[in-house]
Amino acid sequence: MTITRMREIEVDIAIIGAGFGGSLAALLANRIGRSVVLLDRGKHPRFAIGESSTPLANLVLEELSQQYDLPWLKPFANYASWKATYPDIPTGLKRGFSYVHHRRGEHFRPDRDHHGELLVAASYGPDDADTQWLRADFDAFLAQRVERAGIPFWERTEIDEFHDFGTVWRLKGQVENEPVDIRASFVVDASGGASPFARQAGLPDRTHTLKTHSRTVFAHFRGVKPWDDLYRVAGGVGDDHPFRCHDSTLHHVFDGGWMWVIPFDNGVTSAGWCLDPRRHPLDESITPEAEWAYWMHQFPSVAEQFAEAVPVSDGGKLRRTGRMQRRLGQAAGPNWALLPTAAGFIDPLHSSGNAHTLLGLERLVRAWEEDWDTPRLPVRLQEYDRLLQREIEFIDGIVAASYAGFADFDRMVAVTMFYFATAVWSEHERRAGRPPNAFLCADDERFHTALEQAYRAVNDPAVSTPELEALVNRTFADINLAGLGDPSRKRMYPYPKPQ
Ligand SMILES: Cc1cc2nc3c(=O)[nH]c(=O)nc-3n(C[C@H](O)[C@H](O)[C@H](O)COP(=O)(O)OP(=O)(O)OC[C@H]3O[C@@H](n4cnc5c(N)ncnc54)[C@H](O)[C@@H]3O)c2cc1C
Repeated sequence: MTITRMREIEVDIAIIGAGFGGSLAALLANRIGRSVVLLDRGKHPRFAIGESSTPLANLVLEELSQQYDLPWLKPFANYASWKATYPDIPTGLKRGFSYVHHRRGEHFRPDRDHHGELLVAASYGPDDADTQWLRADFDAFLAQRVERAGIPFWERTEIDEFHDFGTVWRLKGQVENEPVDIRASFVVDASGGASPFARQAGLPDRTHTLKTHSRTVFAHFRGVKPWDDLYRVAGGVGDDHPFRCHDSTLHHVFDGGWMWVIPFDNGVTSAGWCLDPRRHPLDESITPEAEWAYWMHQFPSVAEQFAEAVPVSDGGKLRRTGRMQRRLGQAAGPNWALLPTAAGFIDPLHSSGNAHTLLGLERLVRAWEEDWDTPRLPVRLQEYDRLLQREIEFIDGIVAASYAGFADFDRMVAVTMFYFATAVWSEHERRAGRPPNAFLCADDERFHTALEQAYRAVNDPAVSTPELEALVNRTFADINLAGLGDPSRKRMYPYPKPQ
């Protein structure tokens, strides 16, 4: 006779998915006195992607650490303090964002006016710089903190049934072969794209409303050369670069796609091609490795950077996805919520995902803290849903306009201002104690309307680049703290000093 044991628990909040978002949600819920169980279908440490942080992400991390008394979290909000406090958890120095424009079959040719370059600083120097998160190690550390806080944390656990009985959820599944039975007042889906809750709840799929189309081929590598070395060999000087491109998230952009290059201090570099499948459809008969080699062959300067690169993640295999974009029509209900990446995802371009996740978390935890037992909680969750939807639409608009501009770099540079002007302004306002209502000021109707116009303009050959630039400059005249679009800066933007 076999005796089947049952793993049972009754908690306030059940969180599905122990990426950095789920683990932080569990730790914060615990700090406000809620009982929690955290589940993940996998086991830490595991390879994950989503590595590049931003000033906004770091400001939120720091505030969460202070407000919820998690002092060990604060050092992660800055490169210098991360290195000093956690030297064994790999990170990378991120001074800003760099974009380099390539044409097929041609070497990149630097010039003094930086025609094919855009560098936007996100820090003054290494001491206040952002970080690149080696997610396997960072996420595993957070999961250990969950366990240290005494929060039940079940790995290799999957939930197949979510039953809503009004005041209580009943979740059923298994941890390895053991059945699981969870009673919880609130469910958080922090599972990234897997969204088991969304599938069970039959949430409407609104991916068709998104304008961006992209897929990716990626891995971690060793042996990637610093871009700055190649830049100098190609005749570039770089003395007016606000930072070394190697100390940034580097974007190689070209008609129909782009590549991210994210170096870590331990010699590993994350890299991936993002491709518009309408232009470059996924062909399953070609291996990811062969496709990688094909794209390298198209762009000789990128090929030089990767000439000695060897993939080191997943046993040397590359990962490839279909279309990355997802959007669900509802991100929260009276007793459940999806974290931002479970509700929708657009593209790694401009590194918006982690900041968005942290802002969503901040909003959710504040709603729990202030209104857990009040009739206002469902109202707060409606607002959470509304803002997430606005933010996903706004990010989609920026990314889709950027892709449309990849063929003509001047046009891409113009529309990236929708990201950089709103991000820098949000950082400034947050530092001044006036955080905007939504990520990237996405709740401001003016910016949505202007973005829609810019998206049409960037796709319309009848609209000249100066006309597009004028539209963008007008839109951000009041909040353009970094002097974006000022021709005298030659697309080299230092981080603006606090006012
Ligand atoms: C190719 C790519 C590149 C990106 N690059 C960047 C970047 O540079 N910067 C940036 O800010 N953002 C980036 N992002 C976005 C970033 O990945 C997300 O913002 C971030 O991972 C969200 O964290 P999370 O914890 O919510 O979800 P995830 O990190 O996706 O974690 C989800 C967790 O849920 C678990 N899980 C999944 N299904 C189940 C299930 N059924 N049951 C239980 N557990 C489950 C998984 O095992 C995982 O541990 C990128 C995304 C992609 C796709």
